[in-house]
Amino acid sequence: MQVRSTPESTMEQTQRVTELEEKLLRARNELKNLRQTVNTRNTGSGISPSGKEELKNSIIDNIHYPLLVLDEDLRVVFANKKYYKEYGSKVEKIDGELIYDLGNGQWNISQLKKILETTLLTKSSMNNFELKYKNDEGQERYICLNASEIHLKESPGKYIMLSIEDQTEKKLAEIRLKESQHKYKEMIHSSTSLIAILKGPEMIIETANKSIKKVWGKGDNVEGRSLFEVLPEINEQGMPELFEKVYKTGQPYTAKERPIKHEVNGKLVPGYYNFIYQPQRNLEGEIVGVSVIANDVTKQALLNRKIRKSEREFRELVNFMPHKINMADPDGNVIFYNKSWLDYAGKELDEFLAEPWPLMIHPDEREQVVEEVDHCLKTGCDLEMELRIEDKNGDYKWHLCRATPVIDDEGNINSWLASSTEIQKLKEEEQRKEDFLKLVSHELKTPVTSIKGYVQLLLSSLQEQALKELNTPVKPYLKRIEGQVERLIRLISEMLDLSRIEQNELELQKTEFNLNEHVEELVEDLKYSNKDIEIEIQNDCDCDVVADRDRIGQVIINFVTNALKYTPDGNRVEIRVFNESPDNVAVTVKDFGIGIDEKEQQQIFKRFYRVSGNKDDTYAGFGIGLYLSSKIIERHNGKIMVNSAIGEGSEFTFTLPINQN
Ligand code: ADP
Repeated sequence: MQVRSTPESTMEQTQRVTELEEKLLRARNELKNLRQTVNTRNTGSGISPSGKEELKNSIIDNIHYPLLVLDEDLRVVFANKKYYKEYGSKVEKIDGELIYDLGNGQWNISQLKKILETTLLTKSSMNNFELKYKNDEGQERYICLNASEIHLKESPGKYIMLSIEDQTEKKLAEIRLKESQHKYKEMIHSSTSLIAILKGPEMIIETANKSIKKVWGKGDNVEGRSLFEVLPEINEQGMPELFEKVYKTGQPYTAKERPIKHEVNGKLVPGYYNFIYQPQRNLEGEIVGVSVIANDVTKQALLNRKIRKSEREFRELVNFMPHKINMADPDGNVIFYNKSWLDYAGKELDEFLAEPWPLMIHPDEREQVVEEVDHCLKTGCDLEMELRIEDKNGDYKWHLCRATPVIDDEGNINSWLASSTEIQKLKEEEQRKEDFLKLVSHELKTPVTSIKGYVQLLLSSLQEQALKELNTPVKPYLKRIEGQVERLIRLISEMLDLSRIEQNELELQKTEFNLNEHVEELVEDLKYSNKDIEIEIQNDCDCDVVADRDRIGQVIINFVTNALKYTPDGNRVEIRVFNESPDNVAVTVKDFGIGIDEKEQQQIFKRFYRVSGNKDDTYAGFGIGLYLSSKIIERHNGKIMVNSAIGEGSEFTFTLPINQN
């Protein structure tokens, strides 16, 4: 067949159109006649030639893709209904038109031109030629062209029947599918998780990503082989059974930190893996294989093992200790009691944890303990308390309880650790000691007071003349005796006060007096017996208070005597009376002595506490004075505090509320 590129003349075209129209008219008439014949006879006995013609036309029109018949000049001689519908053309407009001029020149595509004008010259047909072009709206369309040469008996010349199948939707779906397959493959292969897809009961490796191949250590070419053949070492580790179970039951299998050994370069390499074996199904829902998604968690698993081991050791250690150890969460809820606790309470851990802990504490201390614990939970400070705890027989025993917060890297409280040590025996011994001291002090008080009386009597009755004749320094000796007896009396009364405080028997005799005057009188007395001391008083306010005059005096004397005692190279003391706030009055005693280390400053108010390192022979004392002072001030609803620096001196202050009511 020959394809001419020059158009035929209008005359010729018109002539051919007329011929075709005549043919069409003839065919219609024949069809009409045939219908009439069929209708009159009402019987069917085969299709007449014109009926066949109609049938052909009908088939052509019903073909689901557009058809064009072109003449040798590539002009349209026929287009089926589908073509008109698809490309929005009208019969009168396209008949005789050059294919390249149809529509908006949509077929004026170089590739198509080449096919029509070159390929079809040598071949009489063209099959499934795929073409991509952009339509008027700039959208890409994909078409599939089929062309064949046809000859009409009654019309000489050659014609090309061109079928145009728009495959855009199919093509786009194919592209999307390819893209998603590509993404899926990419995802599998670039994943750091270990992924493999196994097919059939033999677990033939269909896909295995780089990560899993690396762990397997059997090289790159494992696809197409059975997993059990590639990794014979796993056969002994119970893996085939797992795969078989998933394959047979369709139930996925999940494992956490499972140890698996892989043979790499002839050596068994142990590792720990989290993995899931998932059944793979086909479109019919039948199981066709198993997929593996795993993660190498060896480092984490080894760490977890270490943590568990040290946790076990810690528990063992804590259970082994005779002390009662417990742990609480940041809100103070107990989460662990050691064995000593369980033995003491005679309870199982769960039962004990379910009980509110304050119930174990003696009712006398319970409220205070709860308050202190709340305070520590809020502020994060350490707790130290002596309290009585009920044992399994219902007896209360004294314990020294300490709790401290466990702080994490961010500075938050992670938990609380508490230890409780039984001090019942110590307490009983202390009680015995106190009872003894009380008894001794009582017994001593009378003879010592009478010694003091007699010494004073001697001092006042001895005549100067008689003393001279005696030729012995009797007076200085008597003075010394008086001084030592006074020390003894002070100690005895301190001891008695101590036991009064312990037994809550310290009674206050409150009267109204002027604090400034009281301070001045006390200083006068001190100066009288200690001539070379230098005490300066600064009254910033003039204040009357309602308080126990003697007890307040005892506190001031304790402050001043300490100030003098702990200033070895001097004797200067400053006292200041001032309003610390509108509601209270404060007395500060300042010295320029040895000072107190910051970490000791709260301890010195405890019973018998003396700063370590202070030599007993240089600074005589028992560590009772400040304890008594703090208790006296506490009973007056005041505060006692210290401000000090090593080598610079100390400043002791107490406050008293002005309105005692
Ligand atoms: P003591 O009889 O030991 O002086 P206190 O209870 O009065 O007992 O004091 C307790 C401890 O506080 C003393 O042992 C001493 O270490 C320290 N201390 C008290 N006052 C002072 C001070 N002014 N300067 C330095 N240290 C002091």
